[in-house]
Amino acid sequence: MPMFVDTSPPGQCIFCRLVAGEIPSAKVYEDALTIAFMDIGQVTPGHVLVATKRHAATLLDTTPEEAATLMQTARRVALAVRTAFDPPGLTLLQANGALGGQTVAHVHLHVVPRHEDDGITFTWPRQEPPAAVLAGYAERLRAAL
Ligand SMILES: [Zn+2]
Repeated sequence: MPMFVDTSPPGQCIFCRLVAGEIPSAKVYEDALTIAFMDIGQVTPGHVLVATKRHAATLLDTTPEEAATLMQTARRVALAVRTAFDPPGLTLLQANGALGGQTVAHVHLHVVPRHEDDGITFTWPRQEPPAAVLAGYAERLRAAL
């Protein structure tokens, strides 16, 4: 699968330049905090990216308001995708860090219409640890909240 990786310095990334109007995009929607535009890769027809307008590298660098608006915009775009393309399925994908599958270091969320045999695959290796291990993980997370 061809994969684009943006190696621009922070603040000069392709999404910041797109928000600034320095590079063209097929824009779908924008509000004060977010912008939605067609992914040039178009994994399936109607594939949209939703990004923050402010440069934030990952979800962990967003404000709560930006994160909430990102999802609200994704929902709004997903409803439009349903109306305009009527796919039988829809996947939202939000990746953080290179090991998380993020290829542009500016937080974004993919809205991807899904179809039978669309070529998209996920490897999801279930581990199913014992309940005591799960309880330990939960305790670590509760302590971190
Ligand atoms: Zn940026």
